[in-house]
Amino acid sequence: MNAEIIAVGSELLTPQRVDTNSLWLTDQLNALGVEVTAKTIVGDHRERLAEAVRAACARSELVILTGGLGPTEDDVTRDAVAAALDRTQQFRQDICDAIDQRFRRSNRVMAEINKRQAFVLEGAEALPNPNGTAPGQWVQDGGRAVVLLPGPPNEMQPLFVKECLPRLQRMLPPQVIRTRSYRVALMAESEVDQRIAPVYTKYANPATTILAAAGDIQIHLRARCAAEADAESLLAEVGGQIEALLGDWIYSRNLDPLEVVIGCALRARSQTLSVAESCTGGLLAQRITSVPGASDYFLGGFLTYSNRMKTELLGVPEDLLREHTAVSEPVAEAMARGARLRTGSTYALSVTGIAGPGGATEAIPVGAVFAGLAGPQTCRIRRAHFLGDRDRVRALASQLALDMLRRELAGL
Ligand code: AMP
Ligand code: MG
Repeated sequence: MNAEIIAVGSELLTPQRVDTNSLWLTDQLNALGVEVTAKTIVGDHRERLAEAVRAACARSELVILTGGLGPTEDDVTRDAVAAALDRTQQFRQDICDAIDQRFRRSNRVMAEINKRQAFVLEGAEALPNPNGTAPGQWVQDGGRAVVLLPGPPNEMQPLFVKECLPRLQRMLPPQVIRTRSYRVALMAESEVDQRIAPVYTKYANPATTILAAAGDIQIHLRARCAAEADAESLLAEVGGQIEALLGDWIYSRNLDPLEVVIGCALRARSQTLSVAESCTGGLLAQRITSVPGASDYFLGGFLTYSNRMKTELLGVPEDLLREHTAVSEPVAEAMARGARLRTGSTYALSVTGIAGPGGATEAIPVGAVFAGLAGPQTCRIRRAHFLGDRDRVRALASQLALDMLRRELAGL
């Protein structure tokens, strides 16, 4: 089955608003084995939208629209789909009453214009929307389904899961989709691909996708089979080969990011962590504390941007800073040791580097980063030279530090 998505809303054609609904829907549809073959963004314009719906219906068995179901004059989705499918609309008193009740519950009075939202296309099923006034609609048009969903993501998503997923599952041939995912830190995408392409290109099923972010590669395998056991055995066959080729570069087998992986390891060992950050400006601590329950193992950190703060808060000797400069191996080490000493944590991570675009010296280029790890036994330093803009260098620097700890905790 092929699907297409039409995002309705003039705001989505401005630089201020992004159509995120179609991304979320694509993810849901792909999980069912349905491919999205086209998407369209149309402003709040009845004729243009009707035209887009006709074109989509001529190509695809499933057409999903989001947005434009509101009560105002610029909400034209119902009218446009009615025109495109040549169907009338019927007023439904029960829907009107439900909208009215919704207003009453918040001590407001329903406006006359909200009655527009109680119109349903001839032959359509209304899909209850517990989070908003506009119900969705499911229109079966021969073998084709046209689905109208509200625009706000917090209404659209639960409505899709509750009302649309079961209907779609009934329409699709029985098949199971099983996935397996890996994450790899700090290896270039080309390098990952070079290693594993000889394996995954041999298989159309499972399908393999590689997604790259700064210092973080995700590998997704999706097997589609009639039976679950077949899908699992395909994943094991291909996944096993990929695991052998990437070895300990793989840090996650369930899409958990590094901050979750290190958090679980620290919690399991009842150990603690602190950080000392310079060029990442708190990003490392932000990532660590983005994980619920991080207080079980994270004690806190030092944001020491200036040399004076490195000395005062972490005890980095002034002459060390003078002799080696702040972006150096000895200073990264002194920062990590200082943080560990002053917090009493089991481990401390430090980061110092030049995020750019300015600040390079003859000896130290933009993108040079030192990450330190002080632990009960040792203090280790890793040096890297990252390419890219400021955001990228900072993201990679935090990744470098977390990966050092990940390796330490895994005994690598
Ligand atoms: P509407 O149902 O057209 O009145 O849309 C109401 C609100 O939903 C809009 O102001 C947006 O904030 C949001 N919205 C509509 N369409 C989308 C979309 N495709 N992606 C993300 N948000 C959307
Ligand atoms: Mg709108």
